[in-house]
Amino acid sequence: MDFELTELQTRLRDAAAEYVKSEVAPIAAELDKTKDREKLLKILKGLAGRGFMGITIDPAYGGTGADTISFSLVMTELGRGCASTSVTTSVTNMVAEVIERIGKEDQKAKYIPRLCSGEYAAGGFALTEPIAGSDPAAMRMSATPDGDHWVLNGTKIFISSAEFAGVFVVWAVTDREARKGKGISAFLVESSAPGLRVGKHEKKLGQLASPTNEVIFDNCLVPRENMLGELNDGFRIAASELAGGRIGIGSMAVGIGMGALDYVTEHFKKNGQPDPATQSAIADNYARLAGARLLLFKAASLKDRKKYYAKEASMAKVYATEAADAACHDAVRLLGDFGCVEDCPVERFYRDVRVTRIYEGTSEIQRLIIARELLR
Ligand SMILES: Cc1cc2nc3c(=O)[nH]c(=O)nc-3n(C[C@H](O)[C@H](O)[C@H](O)COP(=O)(O)OP(=O)(O)OC[C@H]3O[C@@H](n4cnc5c(N)ncnc54)[C@H](O)[C@@H]3O)c2cc1C
Repeated sequence: MDFELTELQTRLRDAAAEYVKSEVAPIAAELDKTKDREKLLKILKGLAGRGFMGITIDPAYGGTGADTISFSLVMTELGRGCASTSVTTSVTNMVAEVIERIGKEDQKAKYIPRLCSGEYAAGGFALTEPIAGSDPAAMRMSATPDGDHWVLNGTKIFISSAEFAGVFVVWAVTDREARKGKGISAFLVESSAPGLRVGKHEKKLGQLASPTNEVIFDNCLVPRENMLGELNDGFRIAASELAGGRIGIGSMAVGIGMGALDYVTEHFKKNGQPDPATQSAIADNYARLAGARLLLFKAASLKDRKKYYAKEASMAKVYATEAADAACHDAVRLLGDFGCVEDCPVERFYRDVRVTRIYEGTSEIQRLIIARELLR
């Protein structure tokens, strides 16, 4: 076991850190307040230009061809600066990955370079429905064949980046008679597809610069060839892609937690050494985040070696997001009143971290996945 990063991993991490320091962190508070779309899109374009929208993707499709540890490192650096930017990048990488893994050659050639190059500002992952969040197999959205097209009807909710995503991976029921989870298929749906409409913009607790919307499919026409993967195999595809996505969300959460703690340690370095209890809290939180990174790297390494990694990804996600949540909570506590005001970045980190325990599977769902494996 080698704990040293490779040259490529180090280079990508440092490039992400440098971009965050010079371009992202200085405007993160402004993005949070104003949700300035043009500025966010400029940042996303810059990330694409640095190869961060397709980190593990084959260079033949415009990707960087790096490994999942590199992906984790980059997500952590982005999380340190701006969680809204980080989640957009994580989901876009996930969309590019699912197309690369499952897609037919013409789908890969058409969509992945657009995601990696920034021609599409982001990709959308449209799984959740009003009655199907933790239990996506309960989804109602339908896809019916009609000549050269599939006709999609239904509503997805809480879809990240829906307002500017160029393409969505959308899941819909293609066989109502099938056993639960066995009659769902995945589709690639362009944002310009007739019948697709982006609806309500959620007013959230945190990650305010990342738009989250409902997406309505009203007799939405999708070319027949845009089915992604096999008919009725969609649920399996979603489950396995979410495992990879969890590495991204866990890594981002570690970055948010470290961002909050770094601020606290700098504060005490400038203003005098804190009391022993405060020192202890700082040490505990850094130690937990360091442990979370190792879990994330383990899951990433298994994924890259094409070994089973769903349990490890869930362990990494639940541990990392809860460690990060605790770190942000403590950061506010240790700063006292100043930790609660919007001039202090810790106030934003505290709001931004909470949702990492919810999306791409709540903490409770991660525990179910882990326990199911252990008790099998
Ligand atoms: C900001 C944001 C962005 C999002 N982006 C996307 C996106 O891009 N694409 C997308 O498809 N979705 C997205 N989501 C949706 C997200 O994935 C879901 O919110 C999440 O999966 C949980 O589903 P739910 O909200 O319906 O909660 P529910 O499933 O209704 O769960 C409510 C509570 O019950 C618990 N619970 C549910 N079932 C069980 C069980 N069996 N055992 C124990 N406890 C259980 C949950 O842990 C939770 O605490 C986003 C959500 C947010 C908040």
